[in-house]
Amino acid sequence: MNAISMESGKARINMEGCIRCGVCHEVCPQQAVRHDSEKIPEIVKSNVERTKEFMEACAKYLGNIEEKKKCLARMIKHFNNEKIIAEKTLQELEKLKEDLAN
Ligand code: SF4
Repeated sequence: MNAISMESGKARINMEGCIRCGVCHEVCPQQAVRHDSEKIPEIVKSNVERTKEFMEACAKYLGNIEEKKKCLARMIKHFNNEKIIAEKTLQELEKLKEDLAN
C-alpha cells in the first residue's frame, strides 16, 4: 500500500493508497495524523481558488467576460454533481451498514 511517506521530515498520507483502517490514528504518539474532516476548510479554499483560476483562464482564452460567468456556472454544476454523488454514496453505505447489522 505505501500509504504513508516522508516529505521534508513530515509524514504524509497518500489517500489513493489509504484503506482507512485507522491504525495510524491510534498509534501516533503525537496525534499528528489529521482526520479528513480537519482538511475540509483547506479543500474548500482550494476549490474556490481553482474556480477563480478557471474563470480567469476562460475569460483570457475565450476572450469574453461572459465566459467567466459560464465557467462559474459550470463549476457550480460540477460541485453540485459531486454533492449528489456523495449523497447517493452515503445512502448506499448506510444500506451496507444495515446489512452488516442484520
Ligand atoms: S488509515 Fe491505515 S492505510 Fe491509511 S494511512 Fe493510516 S495506517 Fe495507512
